[in-house]
Amino acid sequence: MYQRSPWVAENAKRRANGQCELCQKPAPFNRKDGTPYLETHHIEWLASGGADTVENTVALCPNCHKKMHVINRKEDRAWLKEVALKGA
Ligand SMILES: [Zn+2]
Ligand SMILES: [Zn+2]
Repeated sequence: MYQRSPWVAENAKRRANGQCELCQKPAPFNRKDGTPYLETHHIEWLASGGADTVENTVALCPNCHKKMHVINRKEDRAWLKEVALKGA
């Protein structure tokens, strides 16, 4: 099993500030506690040897998260890497 750092996920969500880091749209809904619902995603998948670090973790809306897992476009990965580096 992978050890995921809650701090890394928290950092990505704070950097995203309620907006998906891929499509830049606001989170589709809020959690019960009022915080925007975004999912954390590892640009290089942990299963493929990616690291659980701030530079490899982004906050995405559920649609974009699914998209990354279904088609994982090179252009999207490059964009997300830039976004993640800026906030690191
Ligand atoms: Zn999105
Ligand atoms: Zn993911």
